[in-house]
Amino acid sequence: MTNITQNKTVIPMLDIKAQHGPIKEEIKQALKDILDSGQFILGPNVRLFEQEVASYYNVGHAAGLASGTDALYLCLKALDIKQGDEVITTPFTFIATAEAITYVGATPVFVDIDRYTLNMDVSKIEKKITLKTKAIIVVHLFGQPADMDEITELAGKYNLKIIEDCAQAFGARYKGRHIGTISDAGCFSFYPSKNLGAYGDGGMMITNRNEIYENVNLLRNHGTVAPYRHRFIGYNSRLDEIQAAILRIKLKHIDEYNRNRRKLANIYTSILDGAVQCPLEFQDRTHVYHQYTIRTQERDKVAAILRENNISSVVYYPVSLHMQEAFNYLGYKKGDLPESESAADEVLSIPIYPELKPEKAEYIGNVILKALKA
Ligand SMILES: *Cc1c(COP(=O)(O)O)cnc(C)c1O
Repeated sequence: MTNITQNKTVIPMLDIKAQHGPIKEEIKQALKDILDSGQFILGPNVRLFEQEVASYYNVGHAAGLASGTDALYLCLKALDIKQGDEVITTPFTFIATAEAITYVGATPVFVDIDRYTLNMDVSKIEKKITLKTKAIIVVHLFGQPADMDEITELAGKYNLKIIEDCAQAFGARYKGRHIGTISDAGCFSFYPSKNLGAYGDGGMMITNRNEIYENVNLLRNHGTVAPYRHRFIGYNSRLDEIQAAILRIKLKHIDEYNRNRRKLANIYTSILDGAVQCPLEFQDRTHVYHQYTIRTQERDKVAAILRENNISSVVYYPVSLHMQEAFNYLGYKKGDLPESESAADEVLSIPIYPELKPEKAEYIGNVILKALKA
């Protein structure tokens, strides 16, 4: 009987409870302290977490926000991007990246992706720049740092702002520099499944530019400059004190979490390289594997065999943003961004999380290898 039960145990994409185990007493104590203090909004934990993230990234400012989506939105607002403006981004990302652009009334302009990195193809950006282009939102998809040098050069040439969407890439590096610090601002999400995940929603913006920080810091709190004095119309978009306390505890472990992800990725790549397209490892970039995403024309067969073996897998993302119903109004049609469209048909993300046992990764890799030969 026990054997049957064991075989039915599904290997999940992510195991939040496994991460909680070793830190649960510390978290309980932090939560108890907050309950005792009665300070739930913009208290000491938010302030300290902002300082700790600013110090981790060696940047001037960090603002704790309600979500990663809000981080992007408020950052665009702070940069005065508005109706009539265009913002260049990738169509192969979570919808929030492009949604934030529409929130300020601007138009997302999608640039096709590179087949191997799945990030924006920098050779295709310049053709999309018009007199209306104001900014580029770069996404470090799945934890893989994008081509920041080329993007920075283009932004300089055309006087564009750059925002980095680092929602999937906390701790990733590009040529020794932290992603999130190679542009005007870096935006993070602490959605529970992210590399640095809270126990609810949360987000952050980091920047070295005082005016961006000042703006975002006021925007998140009704434009409040002093009690009941409001400089401009703002929002309610603060990071929660309870989430900040949890994140402070997890921040101490983020490098170790990311190291474990990289070890598991290494195991997968050593088994699967050549049989499927594996994520690229650049010598001068540190991929943090928010997802380990393989690419093969036999994607659906591999997913089915994984399912038969009680191994989870997910397609991130099954539909490129330019083909989403929500973006019909932009007027794209099938074939406009062929690399993004074919990636949507061929990618498959397989389980990766810091607590996944290396033997399990080896097992999963071998199941995929066998599936491909079947
Ligand atoms: C998760 C995510 C977001 C949005 O973050 P939320 O905290 O869920 O609002 C934005 N961009 C990317 C690439 C993401 O993965």
